[in-house]
Amino acid sequence: MFPFTVKKLGIYAYKKGVMRMLGCIFCQIAAHQKPATIVYEDDQCLAFQDINPKAPVHMLVIPRKHVSSLNDEDLDKGLLGHLLVVAARMAREKGIDGSGFRTVINTNAEAGQTVFHLHVHVLGGRILRWPPG
Ligand code: AMP
Ligand code: ZN
Repeated sequence: MFPFTVKKLGIYAYKKGVMRMLGCIFCQIAAHQKPATIVYEDDQCLAFQDINPKAPVHMLVIPRKHVSSLNDEDLDKGLLGHLLVVAARMAREKGIDGSGFRTVINTNAEAGQTVFHLHVHVLGGRILRWPPG
């Protein structure tokens, strides 16, 4: 009985993201436990420079709370809207709102998602081709 309950609790915690976020690099950045060049923070999200930029401007906007991807069943529409508003604000602050910028959210392996904490890429400062590879 006891081991069964512990196992169920473990599965519940995993599903809720508690266990996953312990090893999540973006949760660690949000908690200031791992270094990053943070350019914006508020109570819901933060923005920082991508460690391996694909354009002269390449930032990531992430929610503070652990959300795996757009597939997450608990996804909060208000939070998602806020991430995009902050993404546009970051583009403005970097002076690429007029020339143009791209916001990208990769979801799962075939789309190229490598970090399973929701993030909005903000890219600009060069001509971005379409369609993406
Ligand atoms: P994706 O492939 O869409 O999941 O994007 C993950 C992005 O996170 C990539 O562009 C990585 O370069 C970036 N990245 C991974 N680790 C870090 C880190 N520690 N600090 C900043 N950016 C990171
Ligand atoms: Zn996380």
